[in-house]
Amino acid sequence: MLIEIENLHVTFGHGLDAVHAVQGVSLAVNEGESYGIVGESGSGKSTVLRAICGLAPTSAGEIRMDGMPLRTPRSAAFYRRVQMVFQDPYASLHPRHTVDRVLSEPLAIHGFDRREERINQALADVGLGQGFRFRYPHQLSGGQRQRVAVARALILEPRVLLLDEPTSALDASIQAEVLNLLDRLRAERGLTYLMVSHDLAVVGHMCERLLVMQNGEGVEELARADLRARRAETPYTRKLLAASEGYRPAEAS
Ligand code: ADP
Ligand code: MG
Repeated sequence: MLIEIENLHVTFGHGLDAVHAVQGVSLAVNEGESYGIVGESGSGKSTVLRAICGLAPTSAGEIRMDGMPLRTPRSAAFYRRVQMVFQDPYASLHPRHTVDRVLSEPLAIHGFDRREERINQALADVGLGQGFRFRYPHQLSGGQRQRVAVARALILEPRVLLLDEPTSALDASIQAEVLNLLDRLRAERGLTYLMVSHDLAVVGHMCERLLVMQNGEGVEELARADLRARRAETPYTRKLLAASEGYRPAEAS
């Protein structure tokens, strides 16, 4: 197993104000797998991803990579192997930094050579030409911004991408383009994805297995075949399935 989360608990705040955002979640992701977490807003999905990065107040449980418990704070080596892409490409890119700066900073921080070449390659990998290199975020569309965010995540050649609603802020047609790009990059590089979405259709399209979360708990794990066959054990998952009824996978490919 590449990533194992065992009985994770995360609590924000104290006493009467405490929010028990994650309550005993366990999951395991294989190397090369695409694993999804789905659930409605506030169910604790983002908090699980942040906990992996050491950015959430974990009160119990263990997170392991390659069988080794992760140390807090996470090491520089961790961030070379594991990168995160956030929901909102508007918020995740600095408004006064060019694409060039966005891409060159992680290379400088981690001491990579051949930066020029890597930046041009990263842009090409996400379908953006060199003409985008010296643009600012406001000179890009939402889909182009999210491509830059993906390029930034991939430029360090990580093995794992943590994707937090990477297309929720995009129009449906652009959403499909970015999902297809992510799918292709994973296939080409043998990447491992852990992808969060409130949209069962998105996770069903992208992921081989998925965990349904509700109120901070994992209620059910499904394989894609279960999803296609509409096989669900719990009433909550059946409700999510019914809500996504009418979606046809062909529409997103
Ligand atoms: P999701 O991503 O599924 O929408 P989140 O993981 O963002 O859910 O949030 C789960 C719960 O934790 C929510 O009730 C949210 O309000 C709370 N929460 C998340 N981050 C914080 C924080 N930094 N401080 C306090 N509460 C938080
Ligand atoms: Mg979230």
